[in-house]
Amino acid sequence: MTMTIEPFTHWLFTDLDGTLIPLDGEKQNVEDLQQLKTLLAEHRIGLTFVTGRHLSSALAAIPEFDLPIPQWVISDVGTRISEYANGAATSNADYRGQLLAIIDGWNADKIISALTQTFQYEHLELQEAEKQSPLKISFYTDAECVESLANECRLVFNRRAAPLAVVSSVDPFTGDGLIDVLPAGVDKAYACKWLAQTLGLRFDRDITYAGDSGNDLAALTSGCRAIVVGNADTATKQHVAGLAQVWVSSKTATSAVVEGVIDGIKNPEHR
Ligand SMILES: [Mg+2]
Repeated sequence: MTMTIEPFTHWLFTDLDGTLIPLDGEKQNVEDLQQLKTLLAEHRIGLTFVTGRHLSSALAAIPEFDLPIPQWVISDVGTRISEYANGAATSNADYRGQLLAIIDGWNADKIISALTQTFQYEHLELQEAEKQSPLKISFYTDAECVESLANECRLVFNRRAAPLAVVSSVDPFTGDGLIDVLPAGVDKAYACKWLAQTLGLRFDRDITYAGDSGNDLAALTSGCRAIVVGNADTATKQHVAGLAQVWVSSKTATSAVVEGVIDGIKNPEHR
């Protein structure tokens, strides 16, 4: 017997922390997560996680928070794309090869060697091994000086014409300053567009993106329909203010995602 699987009618690309994952103590988020599972299945909406987490941490969130099962996982701030099927993730070698070509030999040793030659390097601490990859070198620093240190790193790489980008942020849970060194031009939006193209999807028509913070901004403003959750940071809300295709929800996290998905189902022209 052959089984025909209907293609997906639409795709939800969503950030995890602060967006899809229920906020601490928000019971409504937990209830709405179950509704989201039903909506995705009934309306044949595909699901892609788009997260700064490393891959194993993204996958660990599925049982931990009882999340719906994704078809794809974009992890490590857009530097890794993995297909998820039958409980296992397979990272896309073509994408990895493309990113390795961008960094052109700028591996962790070369990056650290360049940075140690600056006087501020002692303020940078390498993150744990599982958070590193050849395409994402990550450091901890004090939150107060994360911006200035990121700028120093940019200067170091610019002087050497290194094809690298420096992304800074503050971990909302621990308060740590975070600095990621990535292939130039690569971020969540870059990865989303690459995956959309690979799957034959039209980014502006077939995808809804949901997010809450600075590393979602490029994707939120890239022309697809977008959901900004109510608990998003003020800067993110200000950046998207007035954009027609962006829905800024008054609800938080999971509940905002569900609200946006329902609106998209009822009003496909909003997508
Ligand atoms: Mg987030």
